[in-house]
Amino acid sequence: MSKYWSKAVQGLEPYVPGEQPKDKVYVKLNTNENPYPPSPKAILAMQAAADDKLRLYPPPTCDELRDTIGAYYGLKKEQVFVGNGSDEVLAFSFMAFFDPGSPILFPDITYSFYPVYAALFHIDYQLVTLNEDFSIPVEAFWQPNGGIIFPNPNAPTGRYLSLAAIETILRKNRDQVVIVDEAYIDFGGESAIKLLQNYDNLLIIQTLSKSRSLAGLRVGFALGSAELIEALDRVKNSINSYTLDRVALAGAVEAFKDEAHFEETRQKIMATRQRVMVSIEKLGFEVVPSTANLIFISHPVIPAERIFRELREHGVLVRYFKKPRIDNFLRVSIGSDEEMDCFLTALRDIVK
Ligand code: PMP
Repeated sequence: MSKYWSKAVQGLEPYVPGEQPKDKVYVKLNTNENPYPPSPKAILAMQAAADDKLRLYPPPTCDELRDTIGAYYGLKKEQVFVGNGSDEVLAFSFMAFFDPGSPILFPDITYSFYPVYAALFHIDYQLVTLNEDFSIPVEAFWQPNGGIIFPNPNAPTGRYLSLAAIETILRKNRDQVVIVDEAYIDFGGESAIKLLQNYDNLLIIQTLSKSRSLAGLRVGFALGSAELIEALDRVKNSINSYTLDRVALAGAVEAFKDEAHFEETRQKIMATRQRVMVSIEKLGFEVVPSTANLIFISHPVIPAERIFRELREHGVLVRYFKKPRIDNFLRVSIGSDEEMDCFLTALRDIVK
């Protein structure tokens, strides 16, 4: 705290990302990164983009990337917004669609950034208590004068909500913006994109950080009706017209063109997830059903915080949240088969 800070900053409780300790080499399963490298074609495109054109500002409207993403999903460029990671797209969305005094709804267990954005932009929120098994009680998502946001699959649980359930929420909240944060959708879920044609109140947010192995590049995007996208453009152009640099734009375009690489890595991750879930259950853990590149696990006897600490001593980093309802769970990202074998070996040692 400092006397030089504005009142707004004094009141902020920022989001704390997963730790990145440097004291030794860890098996890093705490931030849901993709263990496989990005598309080699994307890397070549980025190297080629690092040329004398960096002297020039990047194109502020990001047309080529928006066209590419639009064509990939069968949408028009006007239905696509791109930003510096989906965190930025989320932050812009809070500014673009929600007002102080009109509370938004999100689950009590969800992506920890939502309450942070709400506080930053002075937006009230109400929590929907998830069912005991962390599934979403669809009927509770009714907000006549605010808005709604939830991840699908949810974070940090990995639980997935069906398109039929999402459509029920959209139908009940016709006049409100409903944001579905699909950061993890490519690992087995079905995107709500096909609902866009009937619901102009739906905004879908996705990222290249997970299924396209580009967390370090910072590219996220939103899909929605042209009127929602225009609001995001207004916010962006009032803050920073150049949120994506030339290198990121070039890499992101190629990443979308390399379907074979995308398909191969996501299949590998889903197969590893399946294998690891079975092994963990055999060790006596409860494993929440997951459609994401992560699993959410809990042991009936050994406290999660202790397992977290002991895994760290074994050189394996996972995520522990000291929060009500989930303080006996660990979130474990799906790494490569070798990384997951290290994790399982350490876990066997801890629970024996
Ligand atoms: N949404 C959810 C639910 C997430 O878990 C994450 C990753 N922490 C993000 C959005 C942000 O991803 P990025 O900013 O890397 O696109």
